[in-house]
Amino acid sequence: EPIIQLSGTRDNSVHLVPLLHSSLDQPDAPGWPVITPLKVQLLKCEKCSLEFCSPINYKRHARIHRRSWKVDKEYGNLRTPLAEFWDKCSIEERKQVVSFDDIMLKKTPGSSVIDALDAALLEAGIWGFPYVYIKAGSKLLGVIRSSPSISSRDLFGILDDASEGTFLFTGAAECVQNFIFDGDAFNSLEWRNLIASTCFLFELQLVKAWVADKDAEALRCQKLLVEEEEAERNKR
Ligand SMILES: [Zn+2]
Repeated sequence: EPIIQLSGTRDNSVHLVPLLHSSLDQPDAPGWPVITPLKVQLLKCEKCSLEFCSPINYKRHARIHRRSWKVDKEYGNLRTPLAEFWDKCSIEERKQVVSFDDIMLKKTPGSSVIDALDAALLEAGIWGFPYVYIKAGSKLLGVIRSSPSISSRDLFGILDDASEGTFLFTGAAECVQNFIFDGDAFNSLEWRNLIASTCFLFELQLVKAWVADKDAEALRCQKLLVEEEEAERNKR
């Protein structure tokens, strides 16, 4: 009995399935190209030889070699207070932090960036990028989409990998947004930049929420002081 009957009944489709399977089992079967993702050209820093997959991360890194660059006194030491902030946030508060609904990256909505990342991670070709970078992107997407119960230690590890070591590198992230995402070469939706862009937006959101929390804390303290003063006055 022939494997495929070109003319005949609907039964033909049943015979097609074993044919496809047997071809996949034999790598040498003609007509089945072996899928190897293209190796991606990395960007090498001329000053320190570090390599970067994403031009956005590369550009963030390059700033440290500028003579004028110095770590912002406040933002340079943000890692510890941000970690403490993340760990004290409830799951509901974290969901607010990781919401990309109301954030823009230049003219691109944050939700488009994560949708594009979601789609890209399903493509075989994306695995031609460094494994650590793609893995971090996949984990970060998981945190944003569904599991903000992660500890700050694990989260910052992911952000370090997704930013290729440039997480919290450029101080106040919002100030450098125009600089980093300037020009057509820095399309945030390009595959090589998708994870860097997601990471950058995550950092913006995290810093913003932390600042808001600090402000709220300062207000609470101020209110408490006023109440204490009033109570003191009423006693007299
Ligand atoms: Zn360098």
